[in-house]
Amino acid sequence: MEYSFRIQLVAIVSLMLVFPNTQGWGEDGHTIVCSIAQARLSNTAAEKVKELLPPGNDLASMCSWADHVKFYLPWSSALHYIDTPDNLCTYQYERDCKDQNGEKGRCVAGAINNYTTQLLNHGTDNSYNLTQALMFLAHFMGDIHQPLHVGFTSDRGGNSINVHWYTRKQNLHHCWDANIIETAEERFYDSNIDEFIDAIQQNITKTWSSQVEGWETCNSNETTCPDIYASEDIKAACQWAYKGVSDGSVLEDDYFLSRLPIVNLRLAQGGVRLAATLNRIFG
Ligand SMILES: [Zn+2]
Repeated sequence: MEYSFRIQLVAIVSLMLVFPNTQGWGEDGHTIVCSIAQARLSNTAAEKVKELLPPGNDLASMCSWADHVKFYLPWSSALHYIDTPDNLCTYQYERDCKDQNGEKGRCVAGAINNYTTQLLNHGTDNSYNLTQALMFLAHFMGDIHQPLHVGFTSDRGGNSINVHWYTRKQNLHHCWDANIIETAEERFYDSNIDEFIDAIQQNITKTWSSQVEGWETCNSNETTCPDIYASEDIKAACQWAYKGVSDGSVLEDDYFLSRLPIVNLRLAQGGVRLAATLNRIFG
């Protein structure tokens, strides 16, 4: 058993090297969301999170786990995003939350509800793997705040829109997963992710302080409210990500500097809401 586990682990690590991440905030985006969340956990939630994660880890270090296991848990790959009808710029759970075979609830919003429910039953129902539930929830809460994770169906959330990020060939989805964040880190934060996280945390406590309570709150005392996050996401996709972009567009300073505030905001909201959700689950 241990031997086969090791083989599996080697296989996963090799696959991680062969296939670059194509869905979800890149590694840095997820690390940022989870770091913001970790710092906002209540003592009770922090203890429970520590108990559930593999020894020596925190939320940030396990935040991209869900991207790394897509290849050996192929059923999970539909859970990272939502495809909505082209150009409508709206999201509806009943209409849109399904996988490519039409199976209902298999989308990032459905997954957030599902893993929240599993974690809420901690202590009473032992049939779930709560470590996995926590790592999925932490990851998907980031994904649902990446605007192109609730995107149009025909271009697969911008994956099939070819652009140039400055001089480099790229697809639009990847620009939002990684390029905007990486360019910001290089240009403004000495290529240091911790400085970027600090800057976002400053914004949370200063610039956005009056909005934070609203981000944390769900209607009618729900534990989490992914339908709200997904609706905001497709709106941001239309207003900012897709806007003015077509196949072959060259995206440079105009695009980068006007979209960076949206990326900052979505990373902040993802982190704040992940913490709020975990605080309610374990409260
Ligand atoms: Zn993902």
